Amino acid sequence: MASNSVDFASLDLATQDIIRQGVSAREFAYCPYSNFQVGAALLCSDGTVFTGCNVENVSYGMSICAERTAIVKAVSSGNRSYTAIVVSADNGDTFVSPCGACRQFIAEFGLEIDVYLAKPDLSEVLKTSIRDLLPLSFSSLN
Ligand SMILES: [Zn+2]
Repeated sequence: MASNSVDFASLDLATQDIIRQGVSAREFAYCPYSNFQVGAALLCSDGTVFTGCNVENVSYGMSICAERTAIVKAVSSGNRSYTAIVVSADNGDTFVSPCGACRQFIAEFGLEIDVYLAKPDLSEVLKTSIRDLLPLSFSSLN
């Protein structure tokens, strides 16, 4: 177990629930080129959860990550206040963390947003924040 990971069972039930939603969102991934399923779940301040998955395109650069899919769904539904985001993908022994573009995208809506990196089998969860993942960020929120 990674030194800064937490035991899934030790998390409160609400956090466990959004982590499960992030893991489940992987099943909708459209990833015929990478075959790498990524799921995300975005927890809004009002308790609403928006899920997302990666959506690839034959023109690779057009592909969108699971985290940005979830945020775009939330913003386009009128919700711009978030407390946490879950990212889940199966990458063996290592956690999958948001890419640089997604870190910037998440930071747009708050540097204190908790980020949970979850292995799909729920054996390990790593909790961090977008401030930690994107130090000295380009933001209007610093
Ligand atoms: Zn990304």
